[in-house]
Amino acid sequence: MTNCIFCRIASKELPSGIVYEDENTLAFKDINPISPVHILVIPKKHFCHLSQISEEDPHLAGHLLFVVNHIAKQEGLTENGYRVVINCGEWGGQIVQHLHLHLLGGRQLTNELG
Ligand code: AMP
Ligand code: ZN
Repeated sequence: MTNCIFCRIASKELPSGIVYEDENTLAFKDINPISPVHILVIPKKHFCHLSQISEEDPHLAGHLLFVVNHIAKQEGLTENGYRVVINCGEWGGQIVQHLHLHLLGGRQLTNELG
């Protein structure tokens, strides 16, 4: 058993509010949303950081962005816009050490980037 919380969500060992799933990715609602729509998109395979994926799976980065756009459309965010955030490492503010993309939308976001 892994102690990575997002691996446990990906394997359905832990429940989550799943909004999208395919063979390689899962998307679910953030447990502590900062906007009306706050969804996390993860690869099912464990990668700690964004920096790992080009070495191990060059197609994954593009697929994750495709999935984010798909969900944004599904959630009705395309017209007004949305934000995609990847926190990478300690100084990037990454808390969960399993690569994830934040999809934020449903309100006017500020231009504060850190
Ligand atoms: P980050 O700072 O980029 O690592 O963000 C981690 C995100 O994961 C935060 O927005 C948390 O609210 C979210 N999170 C942590 N545990 C869970 C969980 N069990 N289900 C859904 N989201 C979670
Ligand atoms: Zn993991």
